Amino acid sequence: MTSDQPDRRDVPPRMVHDPLTGRPVFVAPQRGGKPDDRALRPPVGGADDPLGWCPFCAGNESATPPDHARVPVDASLPWRARIVPNAFPIVVEPGGRAHAAAGIHDVVIESPRHDRSILDVAPEAWRDVWMVCQARLAAISAREGIAWATVFKNSGPGAGASLEHVHSQIVGLDIVPPAIRAELEAVRQDHALFARLIASARAGGRVIAERGGLVALVPPAPRQPYETWIVAETAGPHFHGAASEAVHAVADLTRDLAGRLDRVSPGCHYNWWLHQAPFRLADDDAAARGWHWHVEVLPRLSEFAGFEIGTGCHITTISAEESAHRLRAVAS
Ligand SMILES: [Zn+2]
Ligand SMILES: [Zn+2]
Repeated sequence: MTSDQPDRRDVPPRMVHDPLTGRPVFVAPQRGGKPDDRALRPPVGGADDPLGWCPFCAGNESATPPDHARVPVDASLPWRARIVPNAFPIVVEPGGRAHAAAGIHDVVIESPRHDRSILDVAPEAWRDVWMVCQARLAAISAREGIAWATVFKNSGPGAGASLEHVHSQIVGLDIVPPAIRAELEAVRQDHALFARLIASARAGGRVIAERGGLVALVPPAPRQPYETWIVAETAGPHFHGAASEAVHAVADLTRDLAGRLDRVSPGCHYNWWLHQAPFRLADDDAAARGWHWHVEVLPRLSEFAGFEIGTGCHITTISAEESAHRLRAVAS
């Protein structure tokens, strides 16, 4: 493809790099046609019944591509969660079209009902969601040409969600993104980085909850009030290798934190994402030994604006200590 070709919706997404910083940018013109709830909802009549327009509600399975995975596996039973290919992907399957950005882009539909918050999903069903995500990430980790993958959530329009029906996304890439390369390098420089992160949170009263070998803590330099990380207590590079006890604990803790956030800042929009190591780390790579997979939960209480985008620095109006104090004070 040449740069003077006009953007067309039928051309596959591609990746370009900023020459000054090396920052990757995915050029995905077809995402411009991505519907949001406003576009899907009928202007008059029937808007109150999401079954009439929401592609994620049970009964509307034909509105999405066929699923990669579902809970329960038995297709004769009603599903409680489904993972389907994203109809507007930022990457296309490896080995597909030439010059395309290669990877996997899925949507995780987290409830058969039109629930708008994960707090509306029953705790047991919410554990199933994380279990099916782990299974899908394990399958992706074995794929040729995929270097790294994550699951992430945009909850609320202020966090980038265009559809209100509870869902998250899985992305697998053929590159290791800059945020992960930076964390890897920090662990290579200091093998005890994660152990100290946990120890200092315990000593400083910044632990919000602990469960199943995971610690939910406010990091020392949160980008927003109430930013919280769920960190595996012992070293382990990959979420897909974690015991089911830990996966259940991630489910319980994300639910716990979403509830606390809603109490300290009702209706707060937020993102979370899984940070794990690249799939194929050399055995002698020190980062592999010292890395702890973790989930970062970032409330979106203020916009990222010129200072944040232009400098890479952040401003928070509530300190880590005060954030932790307030989060600990609200019952989960
Ligand atoms: Zn729905
Ligand atoms: Zn991280």
